[in-house]
Amino acid sequence: RIYMDNHATTRVDPRVVDAMLPYFTELYGNPGSVSHSFGSEAMEAVDRARASLAAAVGASPREIIFTSGATESNNLAIRGVTERQRRRGDHLISVVTEHKAVLDPLERLGRRGFEVSLLEVAGAGSPQMGILDPQQVSDAIRDDTVLVSVMLANNEVGAIHPLAEVGRICKEQGVLLHCDATQAVGKMNVNVEALQVDLMSFSSHKLYGPKGVGALYVRRRQPHVRLQSQIDGGGQEGGLRSGTLNVPGIVGFARAVELCLDELPSERARLAALRQRLYDGLRNRVEKLTLNGPVLDPLDFRLPGNLNLSFADVDGEALMMKMRQLAVSSGSACTSANPEPSHVLRALGIDEDLVRASLRFGLGRFNTEEDVDVAIETVATAVERLRRLGQSSQK
Ligand code: PMP
Repeated sequence: RIYMDNHATTRVDPRVVDAMLPYFTELYGNPGSVSHSFGSEAMEAVDRARASLAAAVGASPREIIFTSGATESNNLAIRGVTERQRRRGDHLISVVTEHKAVLDPLERLGRRGFEVSLLEVAGAGSPQMGILDPQQVSDAIRDDTVLVSVMLANNEVGAIHPLAEVGRICKEQGVLLHCDATQAVGKMNVNVEALQVDLMSFSSHKLYGPKGVGALYVRRRQPHVRLQSQIDGGGQEGGLRSGTLNVPGIVGFARAVELCLDELPSERARLAALRQRLYDGLRNRVEKLTLNGPVLDPLDFRLPGNLNLSFADVDGEALMMKMRQLAVSSGSACTSANPEPSHVLRALGIDEDLVRASLRFGLGRFNTEEDVDVAIETVATAVERLRRLGQSSQK
């Protein structure tokens, strides 16, 4: 079996597992119980993890709130700001290609009287297909805009938005900026100061850490961001997110980020080369194949491990069923909990048929050249078969 679905989730790195294990077996205290050493040792581990994660993104430790993942972080950021700061206005700005964990909370706010502007991205035919033009943000900001939410890297086509420019515009206009950086952290340099974001969401399981843990960066330097908590109880995380901390998860998350940063430059180059090999191999073997999303070069337009292709005249779902040994995903219906064809590919202006004919490859740390060569052969054979079947059934 070959796993090439690293945008969906990743294998936990064995070095991360090693870092976590003591916090299940020996150091299992509650970090809130600081009156004994079990608790204080757990608290120290959380403090170290918080400092390490903060340093990785240019934040200070008190600006990091641990959560259960990016879905929760996005909800806390968007709902937290709008509930606390409604008097500033009720207009929100985001982008059509955001993840559902941003679009759905926005939609709910829309039903509660907020007005949401969703910006378009560059369409098919552009080398920057899927990328936001920051001028659009500037044009959309109004006196009553409370929050702008723009992801850093897209989970389907890997498009990287010019966030520093968006940050500069928001700062100039005095509007808060949230960024869902789930797919970007660990894959490219991410610095909250350089990007001028006020809130940023992270998730551990996308970067070879455990599932069920993530974080929200909340700016505490001027201007200080005020949020309404969404989960109340014991008052952990400065009252912003109650609940006993997931100590092994947090330790693993921080270790996972450290490993990504240590290996970042070499791993980016390695993944980009693997992706080129995959793309070239498929182009040599398969006719009528199109690239969805930005061009592969330069690397600052697109995540290095991402390749999204459409295979004309083939149904992505059927294609995946023919390749049970190769884990990828498709923009066609029913590949996820969401029965709709990909809203991201549709927003890029890709024909419905080609949306259904799409495959997303997410290359990651554990993929090798050999995996890529097997994947090329597997996909090429399956596409040929399906196309032949399609032709004979039309006769
Ligand atoms: N945002 C983006 C861009 C994502 O890719 C994902 C995961 N698919 C999420 C948010 C949700 O993250 P989590 O699974 O940690 O809740």
